[in-house]
Amino acid sequence: MRHVERHRTLRIGWLRAAVLGANDGIVSTASLILGVAAAEASSASILLAGMAGLVAGAMSMAAGEYVSVSAQSETERADIERERRELSADPEHELLELTAIYMRRGLDRALAAEVATQLMAHDALGAHTRDELGITDTGAARPIQAAMSSAAAFSVGALLPLLLVMLVPLSALMWSVSLGSLCFLALLGFIAARAGGAPVLVSVIRVSFWGALAMALTAGVGALFGISG
Ligand SMILES: [Zn+2]
Repeated sequence: MRHVERHRTLRIGWLRAAVLGANDGIVSTASLILGVAAAEASSASILLAGMAGLVAGAMSMAAGEYVSVSAQSETERADIERERRELSADPEHELLELTAIYMRRGLDRALAAEVATQLMAHDALGAHTRDELGITDTGAARPIQAAMSSAAAFSVGALLPLLLVMLVPLSALMWSVSLGSLCFLALLGFIAARAGGAPVLVSVIRVSFWGALAMALTAGVGALFGISG
């Protein structure tokens, strides 16, 4: 009977980026819409501001993610190159280093030395990259993938309040965008908590609180400009 274990950590990486992106999309676009609406702009101006916010936000998420993940990827590559040089310069020392790592993980000296010897004979750089540098295939930095998934997640999040702007009349826009966006945020918090195995209520309250605060502050600023405008 094959034993299948479902570990949540395997999907944490992309889930975290997707939830952050969508959360950012909802909060920043809904706040932008409420700010412009509070300044008593027309439906067309509100929609235009929301669309511009979606494109600008998606591009800045993509750019930020690409730059940070590229930097991580370059650091990883530089570390692996340094490891390759150290392996060819002093393989005995590297063997002792790997043995010590396995001893810290609980193996006795003889077994640790044997495991290190066999793994280095099989793929020395692979063993050091994985067990010394902690770089694994699943965790390897993929800048383009990260940028595109962040931009996509942001866009999906931003589209939700934008759809409300397209569907509801101007007179109902303020409360339907605020309540609708809070519901989307609560749902996002629920999904993230369930998928990550975190406490659901805490996650929902946390994401809704910060979303509500951002929307309220932006609407306040918009109302101020509306009065002074
Ligand atoms: Zn090493």
